[in-house]
Amino acid sequence: METANLEQTRNIASKLARKAKRGDCYCLIGDLGAGKTEFAREFIRTLCGNVTVASPTFNILQVYEPNIYHFDLYRIKAESELTEIGLDEALQNGICLIEWPQIAENYLPQNRVEIYFEIVDETTRKIEIK
Ligand code: ADP
Ligand code: MG
Repeated sequence: METANLEQTRNIASKLARKAKRGDCYCLIGDLGAGKTEFAREFIRTLCGNVTVASPTFNILQVYEPNIYHFDLYRIKAESELTEIGLDEALQNGICLIEWPQIAENYLPQNRVEIYFEIVDETTRKIEIK
């Protein structure tokens, strides 16, 4: 599907969030600026209320009470680092949103949801959910 603006992307995020449960893993895949963090922000705010959602680009993981784990694995270069940042534990105990999940592929559950973002033009994004 296509979203014509940020608001439409947010609508998709909050719809999915309302169905999310413990153990669910959402992979957010797409280029820089495609909308992964904006999607995660609305997803988290749907479940956690009016919280501030910063991009985890620099600290890799942000946790939101009670059990949402928002990862950005862009800066992870070795699979061995994934244990250190607590990926396993997050996957077992919470709802995970993972930007740049490629490096973690061997660790992710089979039944994960993959969401692909593609930039069409300044305000249009193609979003595919698998
Ligand atoms: P990423 O995390 O994928 O690098 P961000 O979510 O941080 O990207 O940034 C997406 C940018 O694109 C934001 O500035 C947002 O306002 C803008 N944008 C414009 N149109 C859309 C859209 N339809 N859906 C999502 N973001 C959009
Ligand atoms: Mg991002």
